[in-house]
Amino acid sequence: MSQLRQGIGMTSARTRDRLVRRLMEQGIRSEAVLSQIRNVPRHLFVDEALASRAYEDTALPIGLGQTISQPFIVARMTEALLAGFEGQSVLEIGTGCGYQTAVLSPLVKKIYTVERIPELLKKTRQRLRELDIYNVQFRPGDGWEGWRKYGPYDGIIVTAAAETMPQKLLQQLAPGGRLVIPIGPPGEQDLAMVVNHPDQFEQISLGPVRFVPLVHGK
Ligand code: SAH
Repeated sequence: MSQLRQGIGMTSARTRDRLVRRLMEQGIRSEAVLSQIRNVPRHLFVDEALASRAYEDTALPIGLGQTISQPFIVARMTEALLAGFEGQSVLEIGTGCGYQTAVLSPLVKKIYTVERIPELLKKTRQRLRELDIYNVQFRPGDGWEGWRKYGPYDGIIVTAAAETMPQKLLQQLAPGGRLVIPIGPPGEQDLAMVVNHPDQFEQISLGPVRFVPLVHGK
């Protein structure tokens, strides 16, 4: 606890403000999202050797072949998810280091998060606890399956790219709910937002992105 607490003051407010300004210039409007980008200590989600780069707007490696998402993309996905959000629960697929989880956590009531690499999940669970984040429930498993037990969800956010639309996630979306998900093969991924209307799923494209793949099976 004390080590993390000290770490929060480690990078200057000026560096964080610069990141927030950059995201505003790129079109992020939500005050709630911008203030989370300013407040969440991103340097505590990466290796110490990379901490000095934590407030650059880039993805960084977090080990085990995975990455921490670029702040702009985290902000964009969070903003898209919350724009239509009237509800309680969010399902997140691809917990990774938990940065997206931490940004989202005070903005929704409850987050259910699924990650396929147990070692990563273990570290992340501890990290979020040390940051006093308690409204998150964790599950090691295959995100293609979702997490039926606690569904349907008002929002679903996927932080790895699926080659095709995961049908089980659509089935776990509440009426009026939104799914934000990168779709497509490497090099041709598009960030998609799906809205669950009474008579159809509406799919909107939010532009090109680059994510690690949503792996099939364990
Ligand atoms: N959300 C993270 C980024 C995670 S990177 C952040 O905020 O920075 C994508 C994560 O998805 C990786 O941790 C990877 O292990 C996980 N992943 C890939 N395929 C998966 C699957 N089928 N089910 C669950 N998690 C998966």
